[in-house]
Amino acid sequence: MNTTSMPRVLVLGAGFGGLELTTLLSETFGADIDVTLIDKSGAFVFGFSKLDVMFGHKTADAVRMPYRNFVKPGVRLLRQTVTAIDAEERRVTTDGGVHEADFLIVALGADYDFDATPGLAGANEFYTVAGAERLRDVLPTFTGGKALVGVCGAPYKCPPAPSECALMLHDYLVTRGVRGACEINFVLPLPSPVPPSPETSRALVAAFVERNIGFIPGRRVASIDNARKVAILDDGVEMQFDLFLGVPRHRVPDVVIDSGMAENGWIPVNPRTLETRYPGVYAVGDGANTGTPKAGVFAEGAARAVASDLIARLRKTGSGTQYDGFGTCYIEFGGGRIGKVEVDFFSGPKPTGTYHEPSVALRADKEVFGSSRRARWFGL
Ligand SMILES: Cc1cc2nc3c(=O)[nH]c(=O)nc-3n(C[C@H](O)[C@H](O)[C@H](O)COP(=O)(O)OP(=O)(O)OC[C@H]3O[C@@H](n4cnc5c(N)ncnc54)[C@H](O)[C@@H]3O)c2cc1C
Repeated sequence: MNTTSMPRVLVLGAGFGGLELTTLLSETFGADIDVTLIDKSGAFVFGFSKLDVMFGHKTADAVRMPYRNFVKPGVRLLRQTVTAIDAEERRVTTDGGVHEADFLIVALGADYDFDATPGLAGANEFYTVAGAERLRDVLPTFTGGKALVGVCGAPYKCPPAPSECALMLHDYLVTRGVRGACEINFVLPLPSPVPPSPETSRALVAAFVERNIGFIPGRRVASIDNARKVAILDDGVEMQFDLFLGVPRHRVPDVVIDSGMAENGWIPVNPRTLETRYPGVYAVGDGANTGTPKAGVFAEGAARAVASDLIARLRKTGSGTQYDGFGTCYIEFGGGRIGKVEVDFFSGPKPTGTYHEPSVALRADKEVFGSSRRARWFGL
């Protein structure tokens, strides 16, 4: 292939999905491919690092992986903000210009819809780095009263993350010697902490009971009255709090909504090929409606399927391997112990999950999960 005849691949979003997809294309074609990867931010951060920042285990600077270290043959990473997507024409406008593509992959993740939950903008959340940093400063001032971990809607990123937050908060308060003066409650819109794995859910619920964490499943926080320090649930029940730790409602970024690609907040795709209804346009990761959880491991799995399809199409050798809907999630149980659940969405008639009990040994596995991706994508 020469530069003039090379198909142009345009990937929007350098998160889990975009980084893995472009890495695979670069590994396969080297400099013989024309990939442009666009992201508005200057660095990548693992979702789970927000919990580390919030509880003061790591600084925000320590968990940022600057995009300047993402250097791959055949891939050009541009720091620009996508302002319009014309999926029909595969033409994307950014604050830096207009990009046309033969293949367009939308990997812009999920955004937070603060307006969907009145009062949330005036409360604390731990799903952004800025929110986690604010909580890092607020938590030391909490020495007694009611803490409420409240999820404002589903689907949300990483189903076990709010459970992890409640368990880590318990540990944090025990370490500071104030747990006896504090109450922890946890409101979750899902019927159980990890619905595809009843065993994992049972273990988490048992951990809440052991630690005296009040668990309210099947309910979401519908609004917050910050003046009265009350969260109002979707059934009208009011819950008092002194400290609110929220998970905002999620949906695709505004630019995707404005493009007309989304339906009910998410981009419809063929769940096994990630193709959208627009020829040559795919969506991977949290923004795509595949029926699998919104988590980095699933974004990566989807990226592998799209990469294999693009490789087959560019080589004119048929079609690629389908998305398997399989992912492994690590779960912080507190006390330095990590559990693990392997979830399989597509190989059986219904999703299943295999649970691995929490242990200190699994912490090493989680560390490898992070360090292997850091090395693969950023060479660090
Ligand atoms: C607290 C917490 C804990 C988590 N724990 C885990 C875990 O243990 N394991 C796991 O697998 N997942 C975990 N996740 C989920 C994981 O972080 C996400 O599911 C994953 O990042 C999704 O990948 P993505 O590629 O779809 O989107 P993202 O990684 O969110 O990437 C999207 C990118 O698009 C960019 N972007 C958005 N809009 C624009 C625009 N207009 N112009 C240009 N760029 C734009 C963003 O800057 C971003 O870099 C966790 C998440 C949270 C919040």
